[in-house]
Amino acid sequence: MSSLLPDAAAGVPVPVLVALPAHSPLSARPLHYLHPHALPAGTLVRVPLGARQVLGVVWDGPEQPESDSVQLRAIGEVLEALPPLDAGWRQLVQFTARYYQRSMGEVALSALPPQLREVDGTQLARRLKKLDKAAVGSATEPAEAPLPLSAQQQAALATLQHQRLQAQGQPLPPALLFGSTGSGKTEVYLQAAAALLDEDAQAQVLVMVPEINLTPQLEQRFARRFPQHRMVSMHSGMTPAQRLQAWLAAHFGQARIVLGTRMAVLASLPGLRLIVVDEEHDPSYKQQEGARYSARDLAIYRAHHAGAGVLLGSATPSLESWHHSRPAGDGDAGGRYLRLCMPDRIGAAPLPRVRLVDMRQQPWQTVFSAALLAAMEERIARGEQCMVLLNRRGYAPVLHCGDCGWKSECPHCSAYRVFHKLDRTLRCHHCGFTERVPFACPSCGNQDLRTLGQGTEQLEEALAQQLQDLQRPDGSAIRILRMDADTTRHAGSLEQQLGQVHAGDVDVLVGTQMIAKGHDFRRITLVAALNPDSALFSSDFRAPERLFSLLLQAGGRAGRDAAIGSRSELWIQTQFPEHALFAALQAHDYPAFAAQQLEERAAAGMPPFSHQALVRAESRDQQQAQDFLNLALHSLQQYDPQGLVFGYPAIPMTPQRVANRERAQMLLETDQRQALLRLLPILSQLLQQHRPRGILRWAIDVDPLAI
Ligand code: ADP
Ligand code: ZN
Ligand code: ZN
Repeated sequence: MSSLLPDAAAGVPVPVLVALPAHSPLSARPLHYLHPHALPAGTLVRVPLGARQVLGVVWDGPEQPESDSVQLRAIGEVLEALPPLDAGWRQLVQFTARYYQRSMGEVALSALPPQLREVDGTQLARRLKKLDKAAVGSATEPAEAPLPLSAQQQAALATLQHQRLQAQGQPLPPALLFGSTGSGKTEVYLQAAAALLDEDAQAQVLVMVPEINLTPQLEQRFARRFPQHRMVSMHSGMTPAQRLQAWLAAHFGQARIVLGTRMAVLASLPGLRLIVVDEEHDPSYKQQEGARYSARDLAIYRAHHAGAGVLLGSATPSLESWHHSRPAGDGDAGGRYLRLCMPDRIGAAPLPRVRLVDMRQQPWQTVFSAALLAAMEERIARGEQCMVLLNRRGYAPVLHCGDCGWKSECPHCSAYRVFHKLDRTLRCHHCGFTERVPFACPSCGNQDLRTLGQGTEQLEEALAQQLQDLQRPDGSAIRILRMDADTTRHAGSLEQQLGQVHAGDVDVLVGTQMIAKGHDFRRITLVAALNPDSALFSSDFRAPERLFSLLLQAGGRAGRDAAIGSRSELWIQTQFPEHALFAALQAHDYPAFAAQQLEERAAAGMPPFSHQALVRAESRDQQQAQDFLNLALHSLQQYDPQGLVFGYPAIPMTPQRVANRERAQMLLETDQRQALLRLLPILSQLLQQHRPRGILRWAIDVDPLAI
């Protein structure tokens, strides 16, 4: 039999990563292509895959294909204009793929800007010319001077500086900046960045924010401070062309500051010296599809291996980061992070007073208690702003018939369709199924359909009615603005609405949690949270943590202007005013809340005291989905004879059915992360091998955030 291995004249095999479907048997390792000579790892190439030419990355090995019976195809084109992706980036990709149980090709290629997949060498050359033009002569305005630091800011920065000098090339421990809302964390980021950018002309700083709508504000502050340095953004709201330009600027080291959402953690940053993760507790840092990575956790990994610093900032840190930054004491060596505290607000009033309204004492179906309304009226009359939070969009979560009991269930999901009054639709927020509101009960013909519960549309309506006689100090009519996913769907609408609030055109802002985060609204002196109770008793053990942080962040929107802020208040309407979470909130005592939560988690062996992975499966049939998971778990046990990893039998997810797919999940838990990481690839293989026809999808979520 003659070997099909290429002869030397045809070239040498080069390992190349390409994007293959996640569970394809080929996807586990690089494919091999022929090239006249070897290419350095990290080189970008275009290679044939089936009938297409696709983008690929030359990888570190293996140098020979696994089997020599396959005819290798030739590399189509080498994108020579681009320097190879560096070893640090490749290591990050490898780690991400292995840790989150995805293929390296998928992770590598999805970390590159989509447009890079389409351009050939000639088109790329044109982009690069543009890039050079943008790089020259950008500094026209003088840089804004750094602010004189508060004592707490100074102490935080001094500690960081000291730590950097001490490290002498050793990896720096991650630093957690625990600072109240308004304590001036941004100034610490700016000055920490300035120190590095000044001393090293190659240094790059990556600044991450949880959400796109928070980038413009931070962008402005960095741009004013560093007009001499090129800065680029990276987030999903940019056009493909913009994303490519930003990526190239970072890859060539021209962009000294990269500001972005979670995707930015995978950018090519050859000069990376510092990563800032603002609002590090925010769940948006966790990717919820494909490779379900935590950008915060990857930032920590990446910084460690790049010899860069990492600065996590929050007023309500994740319990993980809080735990990892605990001080030493009592036979405990302490966490491996450094904790920096800035409890005081700068130039702002004290933190808002927290007022609880006991909704059990209110008339049935009260939306706004009389006391809350009165407090709002008082503020509006003074020309101050109020913010009302309710985490539910639409008019009412359920429409129902009092006669026969019909409810607005979604035919495709085990969930109710939400009543949207403005466009008179019933909409499923899970699968998107939308119909016009029926004129009469579809089941019995009764024309008197009723709503159950409230959404933001209803709040807007109720407020308009209840505040209709009220005027602004200048005698003009008051304005209520609703902001939620429905009002901000169109490009630019979010910015426009935020602009109205900043300009003072809005007296009452009603919205979902999107308005609670990060925004620096100067004139808000009252924030009200309506009905946050479901999180108190959720089956998800992280729900209280999220609620506490949401409420504290929301309260932090109030009283940022010292002149009026001393009167600022956070109102909470609840059925459980005696709950410990609210007591901690009233005292603005995150450490007390965290201590209590961590105690519970330790007792129950939950993260951060254990490590978890969640396996999900979808099928037309719930039993099949569960059986599939349980069977894999059963087979997995022979690979874990010591029983280091505990698997809970599969259960239905909530909602159980979405878009006619039955969903089940199975939780794995261990106090030994390595054991879990060793077993997951085996589990992955078992699932793939024993996947019956009816299983539509399955996925592994490592360190899941929502259970
Ligand atoms: P945080 O991110 O901690 O909530 P910010 O960084 O937004 O707080 O700071 C709150 C406000 O305080 C901002 O308007 C900022 O300009 C101002 N500020 C921060 N540091 C100082 C300082 N050292 N001196 C004066 N004002 C400051
Ligand atoms: Zn009916
Ligand atoms: Zn649905």
